[in-house]
Amino acid sequence: LNGYVGFDTITQQIEKKLLKRGFQFNVMVVGQSGLGKSTLVNTIFASHLIESKGRVACDEPPRQTTEIETVGHIIEENGVRLKLNIVDTPGYGDQVNNENCWEPIIKYIKDQHSAYLRKELTATREKYIQDSRIHCCLFFLTPSGHALKPIDIVVLKKLSEVVNVVPVIAKSDALTLEERAAFKMRIKQELTFHNIRLYPYESEEDDEQEQALNESIRDLIPFAVVGSERNVVVDGKAVRGRKNRYGVINVENEDHCEFVHLRNFLTRTHLQDLIETTAQIHYEAFRSKQLLAIKE
Ligand code: GDP
Ligand code: MG
Repeated sequence: LNGYVGFDTITQQIEKKLLKRGFQFNVMVVGQSGLGKSTLVNTIFASHLIESKGRVACDEPPRQTTEIETVGHIIEENGVRLKLNIVDTPGYGDQVNNENCWEPIIKYIKDQHSAYLRKELTATREKYIQDSRIHCCLFFLTPSGHALKPIDIVVLKKLSEVVNVVPVIAKSDALTLEERAAFKMRIKQELTFHNIRLYPYESEEDDEQEQALNESIRDLIPFAVVGSERNVVVDGKAVRGRKNRYGVINVENEDHCEFVHLRNFLTRTHLQDLIETTAQIHYEAFRSKQLLAIKE
């Protein structure tokens, strides 16, 4: 033990601090009404909810003209606390004329950055700044099996410039596995064609293992998901699922859909990175732009 300094305990020290403080994770859902946004979020997180309260008080109250709604949850698993805000954006893309329907959403995201920056700049800084910045935006695509809608291309482009966007094929039980694979391929081509760059981003800091993991995530995106708030019985066991004309879809069965992959990605493998990337890339871009504007 000669020469042992002991700073290797830093990970335990950090972990203990973080665990005590809890994580704040803010997820936004975007997509047309009825695509299963609320159902999916509940399917991912509901089993661990210990407390939910409607309409969390935001520092930047949403303007009257937007219907954006935040619901706060506290989730606990093995002594680890997750403070989860779900930001719902009802009505996106529902109108006949969807011109500028994304504006309130983009504004909401920027407002949270702006609120954070103001608090960072005040002299009497709070020890921990309440973080209402959106760490992940789940973007729900209609399972049309054809192509992206022009409006989705526009909005994906705008959103991806300010937030970590993760597209999902909603209600993917509407497609056969072949249709799903073809649709996915088509979406990937369109994303590339329109130069829409999505999370996870390439980073030189990533080691080989992280790079491989991110490559597998890029491969999966858009996740083809199915949500359900009901149990169905499969082989005598109750599972989250849906009955349709072909039989029973077990939400958690990887042969049926990619729900489990999305949940692992959100809660196990990329939670911390989504939070960090928001601070280091999206917020930082906002911040430097604002500070430059002040100087000029
Ligand atoms: P939201 O308006 O996007 O929040 O959609 P909801 O979560 O309220 O769901 C709308 C309807 O679609 C409900 O009747 C759900 O039971 C149903 N639904 C939700 N997810 C799925 C899914 O993955 N597959 C199918 N077939 N129906 C779903
Ligand atoms: Mg809903």
